[in-house]
Amino acid sequence: MIQAERTHVFPRLLDLAYPSIERGKGVRLYTTDGTEVLDACSGGAMVACLGHGDARIVEAARAQARRISYVYNHHFTNEPQERLADALIEVAAPNMARARFVSGGSEANETAIRLIRQYHVDRGEERRWRVISPAQAYHGALFGALALTGRRSLQAPYGEYLPGHLHIPPATWRFDPSGEQSLHEFDRLLDAAGPQTIAAFVAEPVGAAALPGHKAPETFWQGLAERRERHGFLICFDEVVTGMGRTGSWFASDQLPLEPDVITGGKGLGAGYAPLAATLCTGSIYDALAAGSRNFEHGHTWDGAPLSCAVGLAVLDALRQDGLVERVSERGPRLRDELEEALASSAIVREVRGSGFLLGVEFVDPRDGEGFLPDELDAASLIDQKAFEHGLLVTSTHSTTDRYCGDQTLLAPAFIATDEELAEMVGRFADTVSEVERAVKHSLAGTSA
Ligand code: PMP
Repeated sequence: MIQAERTHVFPRLLDLAYPSIERGKGVRLYTTDGTEVLDACSGGAMVACLGHGDARIVEAARAQARRISYVYNHHFTNEPQERLADALIEVAAPNMARARFVSGGSEANETAIRLIRQYHVDRGEERRWRVISPAQAYHGALFGALALTGRRSLQAPYGEYLPGHLHIPPATWRFDPSGEQSLHEFDRLLDAAGPQTIAAFVAEPVGAAALPGHKAPETFWQGLAERRERHGFLICFDEVVTGMGRTGSWFASDQLPLEPDVITGGKGLGAGYAPLAATLCTGSIYDALAAGSRNFEHGHTWDGAPLSCAVGLAVLDALRQDGLVERVSERGPRLRDELEEALASSAIVREVRGSGFLLGVEFVDPRDGEGFLPDELDAASLIDQKAFEHGLLVTSTHSTTDRYCGDQTLLAPAFIATDEELAEMVGRFADTVSEVERAVKHSLAGTSA
């Protein structure tokens, strides 16, 4: 069905008729035609960590809107912004010193790139501009952030707008289980480009959209820390998804053997009640600008707006009051085990992985248990579609042209999901996968016949 016939909205896929959501409560979504959907992906983009319809957040937004909803950061600061920066740093990121609030993850990453560049320029190291990042990464849709992904399919046809940053292969079971190869490639790129031209390494501590639930091995992170020490680039963690408790600690980097210089957060920070993201940096980065240009010429109209920051404060309070980061930490490993067990007999599932409530399932060709599923089967879309028929929302990604990964599904339930609701998600997903497995085997038998 062609959507354009009945709407003026410009959708992502022009030939898809999107279901329309009327309301949500907890982990349930309701379409305008009365269908109930169990939301195993926090609104679809790992955002709604408190579930839908949390009255505390709605009330905080209403109260703030009554007082003052918007003023421009270039003219004023405001109490919600000041309080959110204090609370975020005190509670969630004690190693950071300053926070800049923006509206979304792409903006937070753009801000991080500009801040990192300004830091080097202010310290007289103008040659440092290049960023190294894992090839699989997704860091946002704006050109600065888009340049950080190594995925050519996402960059086409905008290549001319994007600077040539550098990419290392992801340290996955398929290419580099030990992390040594990625470090080796890192060294090769450093040498070829010249270490004095490298501004930063940017990566997700645990993968989300790009490599759901994937974490590079400890060796990689240790090697990265040594190289930072030796070569003077900064480390920025994109925690747009993993921040605010998603992996069982306030930030996922808390679980790694190195401290970042810059962190970006988003998604769970506004929890879907307001567009809100943040770029956080250490005191030494702020001090370099304070002793240098004394100017960070970057901003968006909605930066630090009272309404979104009041929502951020209410979200932070709710996460603390309800002990939700602790719940994710305690419940996450069991959830992964339950999912693994439910999918254990599936010949198309290679790996179930993840941290906290950020889980990934990787699919392979059942004929050898490790090759990619043929692209023409479109397994990722099939999984999302079948899941929806089972009343379940998950988010799957396709194999990429660089062949670093195949079809995968991401599950990222709200932190408030009860044990019964989590069990229902696992059960419906297992049913979905069996159905897709049957369809895949049927197609493969047809192909080889
Ligand atoms: N970084 C990561 C890791 C993301 O997953 C996303 C969005 N999926 C972004 C950045 C971009 O965030 P936004 O879409 O809010 O701009």
